[in-house]
Amino acid sequence: MKFIFGPVASRRFGMSLGVDLSPDKKRCNFDCIYCELEPAKPVTVYDNPPQVDEIFNEVKEAVELYNFDVLTITSNGEPTLYPYIDELIEKLKTLNKKTLILSNSSTIDNPKIQEALKKFDIVKLSLDAVTPSVFKKIDRPAKGIDINNVISGMKEFRKKYNGELIIEILVVKGINDKVDEFKKINEVLKEIKPDRVDISTIDRPPAYNVEGVSTERLFELSKNIENQNIFIPTRQKLKFQIENLTKEELLNTLKKRPFTKNDIENIFDEHTQRIFNDLLKENLIEEIWVGGVKFYKALI
Ligand code: SF4
Repeated sequence: MKFIFGPVASRRFGMSLGVDLSPDKKRCNFDCIYCELEPAKPVTVYDNPPQVDEIFNEVKEAVELYNFDVLTITSNGEPTLYPYIDELIEKLKTLNKKTLILSNSSTIDNPKIQEALKKFDIVKLSLDAVTPSVFKKIDRPAKGIDINNVISGMKEFRKKYNGELIIEILVVKGINDKVDEFKKINEVLKEIKPDRVDISTIDRPPAYNVEGVSTERLFELSKNIENQNIFIPTRQKLKFQIENLTKEELLNTLKKRPFTKNDIENIFDEHTQRIFNDLLKENLIEEIWVGGVKFYKALI
């Protein structure tokens, strides 16, 4: 199949069947320093786009063949550059599968794109930085893409969109890994009000000579993001632990910030995990699902 990949088990979204809207080459209006694809000059127009039916017929066939949780629209580049994205999502909705789009946010200030994205069940938008100079350094956007317009577009979109909105911050060492940048991102997130914030770092060879940060650093930086459902994908056991919390202390922690099961197993010592299980049995903690990830939140 030309456009389909997977299904793949994704930590962030569950079992995902991917639809790549640009399988033959990279078409992106960013040239992010951390991109897992080859560096390429940003483009703002999709040349020689495939017809909607060509993609749809393949997806329809794959839907009959595979079991999965979510149909993920992505691209070797930016999927909203595909000029028939609105027609495509209209057709994909007829397959009655949960739909997700992974966008770099560059076009979110365009009302037509907002209308198309509104039709997805889950929209993931990237926001690696809010300071213009940091944004330019990390995402290397095409000329004319202004982070302030992107942020305004995100705020407008949130007001219109009732699905699950996820914001992703990808952290690169020495670029956007500063507390100050995270405090600024926090202020913007307060206004956007996403359903979930994913904070990740480089885990595949990047386009340019840059490095990611440790998972511990991601957790440190995440402390600057207030009152959000934060998801930090972790592979390894963390080097730090939170120890010997009382019931009240744990409830306070989970009130300020919901944690995933993975966080609880990674961050808390055995004693605190036992307290967590007791609180769960006493119904003082609730489970909430956001974009395929389960969080635990204190009820009081
Ligand atoms: S937006 Fe995605 S595809 Fe485009 S350069 Fe950045 S990481 Fe690569």
